[in-house]
Amino acid sequence: MFDGSIEYCKNIAETSDFTATQGEFYLEPQPAAQPLVFVPNPALRSTRPPRDRTVIRLPSYEQVKRDPVLYAHANRVLHLETNPGNARALVQAHGEGATARDVWLNPPPIPLTTAEMDHIFDLPYARNPHPRYADARGRHDGDTKIPAWEMIRFSVNIMRGCFGGCTFCSITEHEGRIIQSRSEKSILREVEEMRDKVQGFTGVVSDLGGPTANMYRLGCKSPEIEAACRKPSCVYPGICQNLTTDHAPLTRIYQRTRALPGVKKVLVGSGLRYDLAIRSPSYVKELVQHHVGGYLKIAPEHTEEGPLSKMMKPGIGSYDKFKQLFEKFSAQAGKQQFLIPYFIAAHPGTTDEDMLNLALWLKQNGFRADQVQAFYPRPWPRRRRCTTPASIRWSACTATSAAKQWTPSRASAAAACTRLSCATTTPTTGRCCAKP
Ligand code: SF4
Repeated sequence: MFDGSIEYCKNIAETSDFTATQGEFYLEPQPAAQPLVFVPNPALRSTRPPRDRTVIRLPSYEQVKRDPVLYAHANRVLHLETNPGNARALVQAHGEGATARDVWLNPPPIPLTTAEMDHIFDLPYARNPHPRYADARGRHDGDTKIPAWEMIRFSVNIMRGCFGGCTFCSITEHEGRIIQSRSEKSILREVEEMRDKVQGFTGVVSDLGGPTANMYRLGCKSPEIEAACRKPSCVYPGICQNLTTDHAPLTRIYQRTRALPGVKKVLVGSGLRYDLAIRSPSYVKELVQHHVGGYLKIAPEHTEEGPLSKMMKPGIGSYDKFKQLFEKFSAQAGKQQFLIPYFIAAHPGTTDEDMLNLALWLKQNGFRADQVQAFYPRPWPRRRRCTTPASIRWSACTATSAAKQWTPSRASAAAACTRLSCATTTPTTGRCCAKP
């Protein structure tokens, strides 16, 4: 509605000597700065069509492929339209001439209810890889071992979705931003089935979690507000006042699962949102005293405010508070347990100074890096739009330590490179061919 008014004011400003009266607008020089007032343009008093009957046309595939700014724009629009309560369909032209066609992207599906989630999870799954991958005895060990299956073999998924909105992650795009939780009964039934049917179960549930371990049954207080909300995250820049943070239902599931006959230990291996967890110290106590196997991996992602704000992650202060609780409850239980933090290096928006401060933080806290890998953009997350390979336009975000090394003149060498790592050196020069 106001776009027209801005245009109207602009036209007047361009044609006016600032003393004349034009229509309803009266512009004259003022000695001091005056606030800018926007008024609706009566000539544009049109009614907007309802959102569920509106589509957004994105720049065409060919335009997006050529122009990183349009790519960034298309990506932004995509992420704004992720709430099934108000998202609009997206349309994008692909191809030119006789082969041109439109790709239609429907809004995200309405989240499943608990009953619907239970129905899906209660289907009679084999809980085994496909038999064609087994050996002659029908087993998956030795040569027929599947590492990815080993990781999930004794784990149970209790919910779907994530409202974190971290810019390097695409869970929202895959599973939605509204949490869909299973019922307690359905979860317990699956643990019992795993205990009774899965070969090799020793009584240890390796993970009782989901995309984020502690978002079970959390969500917006009001369905109406949730349906209208356009925020990309419920927990950034701070935890939204409309978000419920009660961890009691999750705590009860932990307690009931570990009380099942034949279950010796229930671990929580999924990523934990510690800024939410510290709102419920009793949950942290339950987790630390019963569901940690000596080490708990946790993801502050960085220590510095600059990169953390680009990632849409909480400040390192939340980590410190969680650490205090972790150590206090571990000591109360007489257990020596450790937090293992992990970080992202060279995320867009990270400066050399940020990386230096992170290194100092590691040193001050007695950590030595176990593995190091620089940020690698994947197709969907928002941060991807800062790293389009066609242009290496990192400067569109902010200068990064990586950006200082990658310039458009090296883009062609980078595009042609087949190496898996820039740290792999050439035999002749002893360093990467594309990096300075
Ligand atoms: S109002 Fe707050 S809690 Fe509700 S959906 Fe929006 S950001 Fe999340």
